[in-house]
Amino acid sequence: MSTIEQLQPTLVRQFSQIIGAGNLSAAYIFAGAAGTGKAALAQWLAMRLLCLAPKDGRPCGECAECRRVMSGNHPDVVWLNPDAKSIKVDDVRAMRQEMSKTGVEGNRRVFVIEGAERLTAGAENSLLKYYEEPVPGMTIILTTTAKNQLLPTIRSRAQVINFKTPPVSGVRDALVAKGADERLATIAASLTADPAAALALATDEQFAKRTAAVLQLVNQLSKKDATAFVAVQTTLLPLAKTLPEQTQTLALLGLAYADALNQHYHIQAPRAFGNDLAILALAEATSKQLATGLAAVLNASIRLSQNVTFQAAVEALVLQLLEG
Ligand SMILES: [Zn+2]
Repeated sequence: MSTIEQLQPTLVRQFSQIIGAGNLSAAYIFAGAAGTGKAALAQWLAMRLLCLAPKDGRPCGECAECRRVMSGNHPDVVWLNPDAKSIKVDDVRAMRQEMSKTGVEGNRRVFVIEGAERLTAGAENSLLKYYEEPVPGMTIILTTTAKNQLLPTIRSRAQVINFKTPPVSGVRDALVAKGADERLATIAASLTADPAAALALATDEQFAKRTAAVLQLVNQLSKKDATAFVAVQTTLLPLAKTLPEQTQTLALLGLAYADALNQHYHIQAPRAFGNDLAILALAEATSKQLATGLAAVLNASIRLSQNVTFQAAVEALVLQLLEG
């Protein structure tokens, strides 16, 4: 049984039935949190469509076609996942050119755009042309963690499939069973529902350092200690060099503020950071400070995903949090 069949059994069963009945739509949006199996289901779907010997509505996972899809080298399965903050018109145009190539007649073809919230407005409009003139046998799948950032015209023309997030405790327990530190496992499981990705985080020394740096910053912020501003450059920047590391750092800070808000209101919700002293100190702030603080962290994440550098986004954020 493949991982996606364990992670999203209901969706796999539904798509197996949809494909079996020949009712696959031309456009889907796979929406859900990180690690919920969106890309894995897209790959499963491509394998199911192209597999030479499907069994019980499932791809065999062993034939030449299945293997080519799994290796990412199947000519009829095109992935668009540029390592960039935004997906631009040219990226979509290149993909549409690929789409217009006439494959073997009756060929099933699958196009996947990962992280579709990164599509620029121009790229989304370019994509709309595909929705207006779908090519028979072709399915396009957008995966996204933020479907509300997609144009309403894109959302309304595709079927939106919402991926459920498994409980943090389940992922954490699986990591602890594999020998991960419980504290780091809880934090990692709060960031991603993907057991493999969470395990990689929980056992990564850099992740442990980044977590410690964020908690130190939270401690300084709780005291309105102005050295927090200096810590951004001396401590945070060296630990967050790549965009994924920077995004993760802001996500950790967001978890800290969410934990502090829950502590402040005595809400019995699972805490990413448990009863860490820095969180307890931050929870002493007023509810207004904590709520605007959390909103400011989320806003900084959005700015980072646009054209603002990590240093500029975090320095502005820390100033705002110190003054608020
Ligand atoms: Zn197969």
